[in-house]
Amino acid sequence: MTTDSAGDSGDSRPNSGADSRPIVYDLAPNCTREDIEHDANYHAVVNGVVEYGIFIDIADDISGLVHDSNLDRSYEVGDRLTVTLESVRDNGDLAFDVFNESSYQTVVVEHDPELTAIEELEPGIDAYVAGKVTKIKQTGGPTIFRVADETGIVATAAFQEAGVRAFPTVELDDIVRVGGAVEPHNGSLQIEVESLTQLDGADAEETRARLDTAFTRRAAPPDISPLIEWDALEPLIDDLRDVAQLLRRTVLEGRPIRIRHHADGDGMCASVPVQLALERYIRDVYDDDDAARHLVKRLPSKAPFYEMEDVTRDLNFALEGRSRHGQRLPFLLMLDNGSTEEDVPAYENLAHYDVPTAVIDHHHPDPSAVDPLLDAHVNPYLHDEDYRITTGMLCVELARMIDPSVTDEIQHVPAVAGLADRSKADAMASYIELATTVGYDHDRLLELGEALDYAAHWLRYSDGQSIVNDVLNVGCSDESRHAELVDFLSSRAERDVERQLNATVPHLTHDRLESGAHLYQIDLDEWAHRFTYPAPGKTTGKLHDRQVKEHGEPVITIGYGPDFAVLRSDGVRLDIPRMVTELNEEVIGGGVSGGGHLVVGSIKFVEGMREAVLDSLVTKMGDAELDATLSSHAVADGASQIDN
Ligand code: MN
Repeated sequence: MTTDSAGDSGDSRPNSGADSRPIVYDLAPNCTREDIEHDANYHAVVNGVVEYGIFIDIADDISGLVHDSNLDRSYEVGDRLTVTLESVRDNGDLAFDVFNESSYQTVVVEHDPELTAIEELEPGIDAYVAGKVTKIKQTGGPTIFRVADETGIVATAAFQEAGVRAFPTVELDDIVRVGGAVEPHNGSLQIEVESLTQLDGADAEETRARLDTAFTRRAAPPDISPLIEWDALEPLIDDLRDVAQLLRRTVLEGRPIRIRHHADGDGMCASVPVQLALERYIRDVYDDDDAARHLVKRLPSKAPFYEMEDVTRDLNFALEGRSRHGQRLPFLLMLDNGSTEEDVPAYENLAHYDVPTAVIDHHHPDPSAVDPLLDAHVNPYLHDEDYRITTGMLCVELARMIDPSVTDEIQHVPAVAGLADRSKADAMASYIELATTVGYDHDRLLELGEALDYAAHWLRYSDGQSIVNDVLNVGCSDESRHAELVDFLSSRAERDVERQLNATVPHLTHDRLESGAHLYQIDLDEWAHRFTYPAPGKTTGKLHDRQVKEHGEPVITIGYGPDFAVLRSDGVRLDIPRMVTELNEEVIGGGVSGGGHLVVGSIKFVEGMREAVLDSLVTKMGDAELDATLSSHAVADGASQIDN
């Protein structure tokens, strides 16, 4: 109850404790009988005139009669007056008298119902909840407002007219109090809205602050220790914990999450466990199976950076989601992708909208370029480590921090990720040992990686959730199907690689550079099977590996097409990003772009200048020093951006 207005009977003195004038209560429309008392005075409106008196409303649901004997004048519907509650009859009817004093003070009464925590809701009860609006969806029937309090999230259905937006002034992020009957709906609970009040001022601020504290506390990830002991991983654990907290908080606040990941083995080993953990956590918070499906989307990116095409599609999808489903714009999680300067234009595009972004990657980062555009950036290079710590290894720990229940299902994943990215980390032995304890030996892990890569190739821009989960055996319900799929896909992959090598090896040209390095080149457009598996990036890698195995280092391999070249090297101190910059300046009209890692990458150019570009490229490679420690094996995933 708040005393916030002075007497409105001509006396404009500020209200104070010393005011001795009688009080007339002004009830908020949603007040109930709990808010009224005998002998108290109320502001009223006439809602009906009958022979024996007038019916009046003092709130939406509180009406009563003023008997004719108490009236000294006539009234019409809509007239205002002040009344005194005289009696509550046995049958519940209210009887009022007219309150005739001309000097009084008005006290506004807000209905202050007892609130129920969302997690305490039960079907069949009437309840009030207060929280933040996280989603507003107009259905063909009611308007669904999703409301989050400090304990959970619940859907509330307000019906105005079929397909018509109820409470049109309520917006996303508003603080509201909703009252109504709690009913089961599609396997979870829903409140059938009888009253909805937008809180403002101090009430809203207080609720907002309360929610904020509670979200932060609930979002704190559980304390888990990493799957293996590994000193190099330790400094990254706190960074991952911060991202886990961000993601959990994002779930609590009802914001959708979009995962973009590099479409290779490591990228999938990173994203699949995180997706599964988020789905579990969402199910827990929402108590609703559908919510996870709507709130988490995972999409592969063909390039090892965030392409303008991808970001534009993502933005478009997000904006449609906002207008069609009343959903907030998503939180973007970039995995095995997103750390480099090449990602900057995409992030700048996103910066026009409210899309928080976190990156977990192990490609060589450009923190000064990307960090100002990111909310979080986890990368082993930021802790003087390198790509040996693959994104899959990091994200398995992240997934466990989001929802520890996934732990048993992902023990083999870091080993698959490490083998797929050819990590030379000492910890690989521990990861492979761990995978062995759940039934995967070294060869099987390799097959699993090949099968994943093969599936990723054919899935192209689709997430292929069920297939990928079955291949990786994460969130897969049928072990024998998993085994058969891996057998099938990995043997197809092996067969296709064999076929590609048979076609291409005879066409490799060989030169000896001045530095002594072997240079192998092949025109893939002419001699390779195109638009099938393996794509030019992987084909070049396989050819390169074969030559290294047969002839030893130092070796450089260039697989080129009409307007691109894939570069792989071992034992040569290349700096591909720098070569690209120089070529772009030196070959006028060559239109050279690209990059990747230092010793493995790809470049693009205009078709008519291919010869000039490749000649300059080879000259630069001949100038590069030899260095036996530099191997493209460990960073093979950078080469796959030429995908057809
Ligand atoms: Mn990777």
